[in-house]
Amino acid sequence: MQLESHQLGEESVISIQDLNHYFGEGALRKQALFDINLEINKGEIIIMTGPSGSGKTTLLTLMGGLRSAQSGSLRILEQEICGASKKQLTSLRRNIGYIFQAHNLMTFLTAKENVRMSLELHDKYLDQDIDALAVNMLEMVGLGNRVDYYPESLSGGQKQRVAIARALASHPKIVLADEPTAALDKKSGRDVVELMQKLAKEQGCTILLVTHDNRILDIADRIVYMEDGKLVSDGIDAAAKVK
Ligand code: ADP
Ligand code: MG
Repeated sequence: MQLESHQLGEESVISIQDLNHYFGEGALRKQALFDINLEINKGEIIIMTGPSGSGKTTLLTLMGGLRSAQSGSLRILEQEICGASKKQLTSLRRNIGYIFQAHNLMTFLTAKENVRMSLELHDKYLDQDIDALAVNMLEMVGLGNRVDYYPESLSGGQKQRVAIARALASHPKIVLADEPTAALDKKSGRDVVELMQKLAKEQGCTILLVTHDNRILDIADRIVYMEDGKLVSDGIDAAAKVK
């Protein structure tokens, strides 16, 4: 397995081979993913698109160690996730930033406290000025003047920018975003993904973004297309399919 990653020219961050996934048991067992194969390299921005129910969220949550992989091979940051223990998944999740459709901020915490929370999970920040780091991150997403606001006093786009600051504050190696612009108007949606793109390029982070939003496809280095639980095309063909 070690040899394989050297054989690939670029540094592989996510490597998926013959991945299948099932929900339910017995007669209710239903296959959601079929023989998925996908390689994602360091620093790439990948957009995954396809109809509702095609398996995008299932695949994204598997890649994020948010659910256990059942069959096939799923290597994230050189670690096999298929058959991994809860403990291994927990430690993997520290290297991943998540951004969801709804911002998922803690409503009883301010913008700064929400960002702080993600830093507190990492030992390396414990002897640093976490408040200053959180404020700095909020400044980078253009919210330096909103650090003490609670989510209810922020617009949809501002909340999603706090979510980006929270996801990227600890410099994760991978950012997974599931329809991050779905609840935003055109302009805010565009701003939010451009911000993700900029920060990720600065940090050398890899992004996998699920979206239905045709207006943001151009930020991707590569587009992959899912249909009925299968990855039906990868690259230029996929871009043609969604236009
Ligand atoms: P997408 O994100 O592309 O809309 P999903 O990954 O959410 O698709 O769903 C893929 C398929 O798996 C759908 O048929 C969906 O009904 C099914 N599914 C998703 N989550 C579950 C679950 N927790 N239990 C049972 N079936 C599920
Ligand atoms: Mg989904």
